[in-house]
Amino acid sequence: MSDRYAVVGNPVAHSLSPSIHAHFARITGHDLRYERLLAPLDGFVETVERFRAEGGRGVNVTVPFKHEAFAWAVRLGARAAQARAVNTLRFDVDPESGRAVPFGENTDGVGLVRDIEARIGLPLKGASALLVGAGGAAFGVVGPLLDAGVSRLCVANRTASRANALAAAFAQRAGVVPQAIAIDALRPGYDVIVDATSSGLVGEGPQLADEVLGAAQLAYEMSYAPLPGVFLRQASRAGCARVSDGLGMLVEQAAESFFVWRGVRPPTDTVYGAVRAELDARATPHE
Ligand code: NDP
Repeated sequence: MSDRYAVVGNPVAHSLSPSIHAHFARITGHDLRYERLLAPLDGFVETVERFRAEGGRGVNVTVPFKHEAFAWAVRLGARAAQARAVNTLRFDVDPESGRAVPFGENTDGVGLVRDIEARIGLPLKGASALLVGAGGAAFGVVGPLLDAGVSRLCVANRTASRANALAAAFAQRAGVVPQAIAIDALRPGYDVIVDATSSGLVGEGPQLADEVLGAAQLAYEMSYAPLPGVFLRQASRAGCARVSDGLGMLVEQAAESFFVWRGVRPPTDTVYGAVRAELDARATPHE
């Protein structure tokens, strides 16, 4: 029987993860099935435990459950421990006691950094970066952005206290640490601006000034949709040199999750092309 995996979220219907993992399984010759699980907003743990009881081997965790997944995991990878957010759970069992010891890791940040540096071709070393948003995804990418050598990392969020909490969580790191900043205090001067909010999922964007966006070399929206969202359209209009949605990040973080589960890191180039075509097709009106 195929090994079962899933993505758990709310909403989750838009997720392309099942398609990506089907490509990875084919390329690597692994026998697995990957599904979508819509969890009630107050039912993340029940949903995951049911899937595990039914024989599931692991899950990806998406909006808004990454902090709950962090709390539920018994063992953590270094990136998840640093991020205090988990996007990949592997349902390990202790071989001696038979006890469930779910392992949590965070692959979002690795995915973002690989996409920006390897696919888009923008080196992050020495770049000045602005992260908008302070949810699970934002927590996940701070460590890897700092590890990539950004010279400055500011964090702005609609609810300022959450940006402050994010900055405080990384304040003890050596070297560059994130600084919280109010959205209306932002001034031009960022090379890379990453929209890590979920505003795109509801057809909105974070409220950034045109002058801030226009001065950037790259505006990157973690959400992805068949057509560019409000944030990317505003950045293009404002004169930002390059814009990208988060599809490449999605493929890269999925490859890293596959590695956590299966011990093999699948190649991503052809899969990115195939999934981009699949997303584009969603924008094409059907008869
Ligand atoms: P969370 O629910 O944990 O956090 C949501 C964040 O978005 C908060 O900072 C929230 O601000 C902000 N926000 C929500 N609505 C608005 C709005 N209308 N205007 C401004 N800010 C808003 O979600 P996640 O962090 O888990 O995910 C964020 C996004 O990133 C999602 O769209 C997700 O799909 C995407 N993502 C993509 C990945 C990829 O691989 N491409 C990987 C991970 C995430 P506040 O605190 O004020 O509520």
